[in-house]
Amino acid sequence: CGIVGYIGHREAYPIVIKGLQRLEYRGYDSAGVMTYDGTDITVCKTKGKVADLKAKADQGNNAGSIGIGHTRWATHGVPNDVNSHPHVSNSGNLVIIHNGIIENYAPLKEELMKRGYTFQSDTDTEVLVNLIEEIQKNEKIKLGKAVQLALNQVVGAYAIAVFDTKKPDEIVAARLGSPLAIGVGEGEYFIASDASPFIEYTSNAVYLEDGEVAIIKRDKPLKIRKINTDAPVDTYIQELQM
Ligand code: GLU
Repeated sequence: CGIVGYIGHREAYPIVIKGLQRLEYRGYDSAGVMTYDGTDITVCKTKGKVADLKAKADQGNNAGSIGIGHTRWATHGVPNDVNSHPHVSNSGNLVIIHNGIIENYAPLKEELMKRGYTFQSDTDTEVLVNLIEEIQKNEKIKLGKAVQLALNQVVGAYAIAVFDTKKPDEIVAARLGSPLAIGVGEGEYFIASDASPFIEYTSNAVYLEDGEVAIIKRDKPLKIRKINTDAPVDTYIQELQM
């Protein structure tokens, strides 16, 4: 399983697809991609190989300089198209990819259902994206904060990337127990389970530590904080050996 993301000035789709291919060695049963063309998101996902995903997504709109992609190793819900990531929140605004497990998804899901949320998939991940949405709605707070508050309610392991159509110059990423690297370029960032998806674009990388969230904005320096205490973390940019 793996995650890939891009925000910058290039076309995201080819970077994300190639990145997913490089992460295939990690094992997976399904794959999916979201791109944002400045107006709309397009989500394409499928059970099977990254090559199957590419064949499907090549046919549709995949334009845009923001994209996230995922290879899934199912833990909750059988491998099929619907359970594949990305997952979109009820409003249609939030999009998530997730590697790991949300162990307490059942009570969280029950609570969200009481509040009127509906679910398309059997995944734990779709619960998390709607929990973020619910927090955002109630407290009118920034995406990064909403992600932090949601993760503080979660028991489990994760590497996630979250995109919000209402904040289209930003991706929020976080990790606990699953790896996450951020490639730092000029006016662009890459997100991936390891550095292999972005090695030809930049040799500068930040490896998130467990319990950290990163606010990734196209033209701004990276902001990293502790998920639970909100304490800022010094961004340590490592030079990758080519
Ligand atoms: N628990 C999530 C699911 O079953 C993510 C699995 C993964 O790590 O790919 O959809």
